[in-house]
Amino acid sequence: MAAIAASRAGARIVVFDHLDRPGAKLRASGGGRGNITNTLAPEEFAQRFGPSGRFALPALSALSPEALRGLFDELGVPTQSLDDFHVYPVSNRAEDLLRALVTECARLGVEIRPSTRITSLEIEDGKVVAVAGESFRHLAHQVIVATGGSGYPRLGGTGDGYVLATQAGHTLVPPVPALTGLVTEEDWPRSCAGVTLRSTRIWIDIAKWRRQPAEGSLIFTHEGVSGPAVLDISGRVARLLRERSPIPLRLNLTPGISSSLWLDRIEGWYRREGGKAIQSLLARTIPRSFAAVVCGIAGLDHISRAANLDRVAREKLVETLTGVPLLISSTEGFTKAMVTSGGVATAEISSKTMASRLARGLYFAGEVIDVDGPSGGFNLQWAFSSGWLAGSSAAK
Ligand SMILES: Cc1cc2nc3c(=O)[nH]c(=O)nc-3n(C[C@H](O)[C@H](O)[C@H](O)COP(=O)(O)OP(=O)(O)OC[C@H]3O[C@@H](n4cnc5c(N)ncnc54)[C@H](O)[C@@H]3O)c2cc1C
Repeated sequence: MAAIAASRAGARIVVFDHLDRPGAKLRASGGGRGNITNTLAPEEFAQRFGPSGRFALPALSALSPEALRGLFDELGVPTQSLDDFHVYPVSNRAEDLLRALVTECARLGVEIRPSTRITSLEIEDGKVVAVAGESFRHLAHQVIVATGGSGYPRLGGTGDGYVLATQAGHTLVPPVPALTGLVTEEDWPRSCAGVTLRSTRIWIDIAKWRRQPAEGSLIFTHEGVSGPAVLDISGRVARLLRERSPIPLRLNLTPGISSSLWLDRIEGWYRREGGKAIQSLLARTIPRSFAAVVCGIAGLDHISRAANLDRVAREKLVETLTGVPLLISSTEGFTKAMVTSGGVATAEISSKTMASRLARGLYFAGEVIDVDGPSGGFNLQWAFSSGWLAGSSAAK
């Protein structure tokens, strides 16, 4: 996207990519369907990036979610949003997005050099003059570092951009894995591997973070927990894990049902359906395979019928349903991190141009910068918008 913007503005562009085919992450995104953006307007979109939102806004305004859709439309890849939020190509093929970008690059005369890894920046008198690989050097007036983060190495994540940035004197916010699964200390999630809870609320059980829960579906894995709700808090958990371990989480299995509603419901079972098994009654709301686990966590293993639930047991069951405790010992790491949180500090980059404040002619774009969003098209839009702004600015 940076190459297209710069080239349309009249610059001569060479793209170096260490993979034999660039754009592997875009091709794999959204399960191969490419959730490139969503329907939020730039201001609200930017807010979802948290403290980095203010920095991200000028780029998100330079190429807004609507403008991005317009651009892909122009390149022959119309998009749609079936749920009025997530935006995908109508063809449901991320491959089409990549092909459109590469075709546009070819039309504009952009030279793409695959299988070429850049290992250093050459800076003279505070100005970038060249990039270099193991056995070559390429002179350049302007360089845009768009190397992504450290996640998913098999899709191109190298972390090399952080090395290049530090060569230019930039500070890094320590990169940690984000949008990744979490490893639990408890064993029971592993025994539920494959079970999905459609609607959950999950939060970090530490005073500062309790009021910032994530919501959405959750899946139990062979390592612990994953799924959209977990992915969205994983970066924050990863950062906290640098200071302490384990990190306590709480999981509300049914955020649509309040504690008092649960208590009423369970008291109703106690009075009117006392002969029925608690697990079967719970299975009306949560997956049957998980109902037994919930009883275990609530310490009700020895009680099977609703009539045997005394007041203490009823309250304990409600507490469990609305806040299952989990202890997180680690994340699933960079190998499975869809995004890297942290990166080149935003204070040293101009948000209006994406230019480095430390070296002339140097620009940054995408995930290599300390900007990361939740799942839902935020990260690709950021990559496209910041790439567009960096490309246009560098060409000027
Ligand atoms: C499996 C998966 C699914 C995802 N799904 C979505 C989704 O649906 N929606 C969404 O918004 N986001 C999604 N993301 C996140 C999104 O793909 C990234 O945030 C986005 O691709 C970042 O773009 P980027 O251009 O900054 O970096 P990248 O897309 O990672 O591109 C960086 C490029 O730089 C190259 N490179 C790295 N180091 C060097 C070097 N030293 N020399 C030369 N080249 C180098 C890499 O090979 C790569 O091609 C997903 C990520 C993954 C892994």
